[in-house]
Amino acid sequence: MKTLVSIIAPMYNEGALVHEYCKEMITMALEISNTYDLELILVNDGSKDNTYDLMLQEQNLHPDIISTICLSRNFGLEGAVNAGLRMAKGDAIIVMDADLQDPPSLIPQMLKKWRDGADIVVCSRIKRSNDTLFKKMGANIYYKVMDSLSGKLKLEKSAANFRLLSRKALNQVLELPEVNSVFRVVVPYIGMNTAVIGYDRDKRFAGETKYNLKKMIPYALDSITGISVEPLRKLKNFIILMLLFSCIFIIVAFTFPSPLNSTFIILSYISLCFVFLFIGVSVIAEYLAQIMTEVKGRPISIIYDYTPSKSALERMH
Ligand code: UDP
Ligand code: MG
Repeated sequence: MKTLVSIIAPMYNEGALVHEYCKEMITMALEISNTYDLELILVNDGSKDNTYDLMLQEQNLHPDIISTICLSRNFGLEGAVNAGLRMAKGDAIIVMDADLQDPPSLIPQMLKKWRDGADIVVCSRIKRSNDTLFKKMGANIYYKVMDSLSGKLKLEKSAANFRLLSRKALNQVLELPEVNSVFRVVVPYIGMNTAVIGYDRDKRFAGETKYNLKKMIPYALDSITGISVEPLRKLKNFIILMLLFSCIFIIVAFTFPSPLNSTFIILSYISLCFVFLFIGVSVIAEYLAQIMTEVKGRPISIIYDYTPSKSALERMH
């Protein structure tokens, strides 16, 4: 039996690109078919369009290669990726976006690095020439904050979910007890021998990004609370700031004494205190919300239907 490679593609309302994605991947599968069998895991993350019907059509055409997973509702990218990771049967497992922004042509290179001994192969976006200015700015801030909080973890610059994991690395990721697991945070956490490949992110093949500002902020907060408790520790710096402002206000009050000045100074000081207080409470609330999620212990996603490919079925017996 050949080595099996599982490729996980989460999809939410991606009817416009199911066929093109499968076509590209099957072409790539043929290129590597001398050495590898492929399992293409299409995960339907509660799409409201015809994504799942199209997935099943593709599976009928290529039952040897295509596995399908249908989640019971929309759980978000991390839930969809995690469902794929749980069902993957491969010796090597690759996660990629389904919109062809992560180029399939990189996969043979990733497999080579794995063959050469890497447990994890991370694809890092050296250029984002095809992203909008807003997306570039958002990503820039996100990766800078993540980097500053990463401590002992080695985060690859601008690396998202396009990664390869060996079976050993995947088993380790799946053993982590956390419910709210962010793939790009837990992979660096497990360490292991990591190789990096740089690439330029392509344009989305069809459809719209699912990550507008409203969805990007909770995602970023999950990543930040997932990577470190440093923001909680930094709250004590507010005490130093408050002392500093108190000194400034006292000096100003004594240097320019007048009833109007005093009222202005007192009101400014109270406002500042409230701003710091609310920032502190918001940070604590965010961590509290994460604790609630973990304590409840609900699964990150629920699989409603799973139909394995023949290549995956062979490995189950
Ligand atoms: N996705 C998903 N569930 C969601 C949102 C997105 O499975 O709730 C999938 C989506 O179909 C795509 C991948 O996650 O395959 C990345 O999403 P998108 O391309 O919209 O993100 P961007 O590349 O703009 O950051
Ligand atoms: Mg995309």
